[in-house]
Amino acid sequence: MAEGVAYWWRGRLHSEREAPPLAVPLRLVKIEAVEWLCPKCGARAEWGPEPRCPRCGARCEPRTLVEEVPELVDAIEALERAFNRACKARVRGAVLLEPFGIFVPLFTWKLLDLELPDGSRLVGVYAGKPRFLKRGFHDGNGSLTSFELPGNLAVIVWSGGVVECLVFEVEEPLKLVELLSG
Ligand SMILES: [Zn+2]
Repeated sequence: MAEGVAYWWRGRLHSEREAPPLAVPLRLVKIEAVEWLCPKCGARAEWGPEPRCPRCGARCEPRTLVEEVPELVDAIEALERAFNRACKARVRGAVLLEPFGIFVPLFTWKLLDLELPDGSRLVGVYAGKPRFLKRGFHDGNGSLTSFELPGNLAVIVWSGGVVECLVFEVEEPLKLVELLSG
């Protein structure tokens, strides 16, 4: 694995060489952790006020170890990094759809289910200009107001009960849709 960076795809970390084209590059951060080891038989104990060896019952001793864990990035940052590996990509905005959103998408997205590093899920993707209807807002002629976000790729993300539409300007939207579906 390249020094300090790992590539995240569908819950697994990969090296740069074997990373799928849309794997998310994540910096590895060093953290200190403590584990409790039995001085007699080397077994590992669960943490407790006075950790005891699960095998022989001896009192365990703490040992500090340094672990490398991937940094935590939110969905929009993760997707921008992933898209940028395949082609040029830029975040153009985000719209809340559910549960309190007043914007109704005027496009149909392709259904997907892809886990992102922060635990949210990419549930849909649409290549094209994302247009929305503004629920409850009318123009002077009595028709509903619609609006368009700049960008050519819309990604629907579910995160803890909230559904958001993230909009990107990318060089090759169709290529990204294909890679995401793969
Ligand atoms: Zn022991």
